[in-house]
Amino acid sequence: MKSDVIAMTPLSLTLGQGGEPKQGTVCIFGTGDFGRSLGLRLLQAGYEVVFGSRDPKNNSLVPKGSKVMTHAEAAQMSRVIFIAVQRDHYQFLTSLTSALKGKVLVDISNNLKMGQYPQSNAEYLSSLVPGASVVKGFNTVSAWALQSGALDASRQVLLCGDDPGAKQAVVDIAHSLGLSAQDRGSLRAAGEIEDIPLQLFPMWRLPLWIAAGLLCFFYFYLLARDVIYAYVMNGKDISFRMMISLANKVFPIVSLIMLALCYLPSVLAAILQLYHGTKYKRFPDWLDRWMLCRKQLGLVALALAFLHVLYTLVIPIRYYVRYKAAASTISQIKENKTNPFDTTLAWRTDSYYSLGILGFGLYVLLGITSLPSVSNALNWREFRFVQSKLGHVTLLLCTAHTFLYGWNKFLKAYSYKWWTPPGYMLCLVVPCIVLVSKVILMLPCIDRTLTRIRQGWERPGTGYNAQLNGGGTRKPLMA
Ligand code: NAP
Repeated sequence: MKSDVIAMTPLSLTLGQGGEPKQGTVCIFGTGDFGRSLGLRLLQAGYEVVFGSRDPKNNSLVPKGSKVMTHAEAAQMSRVIFIAVQRDHYQFLTSLTSALKGKVLVDISNNLKMGQYPQSNAEYLSSLVPGASVVKGFNTVSAWALQSGALDASRQVLLCGDDPGAKQAVVDIAHSLGLSAQDRGSLRAAGEIEDIPLQLFPMWRLPLWIAAGLLCFFYFYLLARDVIYAYVMNGKDISFRMMISLANKVFPIVSLIMLALCYLPSVLAAILQLYHGTKYKRFPDWLDRWMLCRKQLGLVALALAFLHVLYTLVIPIRYYVRYKAAASTISQIKENKTNPFDTTLAWRTDSYYSLGILGFGLYVLLGITSLPSVSNALNWREFRFVQSKLGHVTLLLCTAHTFLYGWNKFLKAYSYKWWTPPGYMLCLVVPCIVLVSKVILMLPCIDRTLTRIRQGWERPGTGYNAQLNGGGTRKPLMA
């Protein structure tokens, strides 16, 4: 990676024997932000760059070393022409059809929203200049990234086009700029490529919606049970608890549920595979989508666990806590009383904290191993060991931590304010379902069948052959 970056610095400009750039000439129509940034990169990579502009004389902003001329003149200089002009202005290209005949036109344009036009920009360009070979590409790379060299997030050029030779010419340019290229097929894929820069965290949307929904639900649920109940039933104003106490209950509750939601789909997938007796039957779409965003679910859960840790750390410095501790000590002194040491309580609280700390430690480990730079260094078995085995251990530790928090509160009538269960009890439902199901799936008789199914075995009469007879499709999916 580093060598790519070095290859793009101005010092790496490769010169031929006569001092001329080693690479060929590339033409760019449009001297706007993208055109200038791309021109600079091309110059640095050793290309000669000519700009086609409506106003060739006004060339003060173009990178030094490039030339600016009219569109028709610039088109004569190069086989490959980048169209760095907004789609709305493409109409001027119709007057250049003869100059553009046989050229490779690279459509780099993006739209403001998905489905803005009935036809993709690249197909529209191709219909305007039928004699040219249009390649869609480079639209996923920003002008800023090109100029600043910060290409890591967008160093892949996705491209498509109907002419393999034209695509190869664009791939060669991408490679010489230190970018990787991925061929997405014919020009019909252009619409899909144009939609990519418009996507806003597509894999994060579902986890963030789930987190937001759960956070809101539990916050108002606990607000009603803790603060409003105290005010209505006892006339006590403890609204200050909304800031730290409530938040510090809601974050771990949602974090634990979301951690369990990371492991629930694989349990459901296993049940479906056992039920169908084959792995060659497609999972429902919702389960597919759920499985694809498990990493994001886990990272949101980790962020909430982290907030829980921070909120817990400030407990000793809270005014309310210090006041209560001092008041209890003073009242003991006044009454000349000492609370005896409670060994059970000591064991319980120490175990509670210890499980919480261990659970959080493993949580962080899971988060770290999901980073691409770390997961790339692990083989498939190591990755599965951490994410699946250690993941379930983390869920077990955090669930046990919550059970110890509740202890015997579930036996006390005061826990059920307004006949509602406490929040910690609700949050244990999903983790317990996941852990119990996992234990059942690990029973040798079930595990053996599941392993066979995942190795391709099909229960007679229910598998692939039966599906084909019924018109099904074969698509193996891993759980
Ligand atoms: P821009 O700054 O607005 O520049 C567009 C250039 O098009 C102008 O500088 C102008 O160059 C030319 N132009 C304007 N009106 C024209 C007309 N009526 N007829 C002919 N040429 C005209 O836009 P940009 O940011 O460089 O973006 C150019 C294209 O790249 C767009 O399609 C955009 O979607 C795409 N893109 C941009 C980025 C980015 O980060 N900016 C990233 C990916 C893709 P002259 O004055 O020299 O003629």
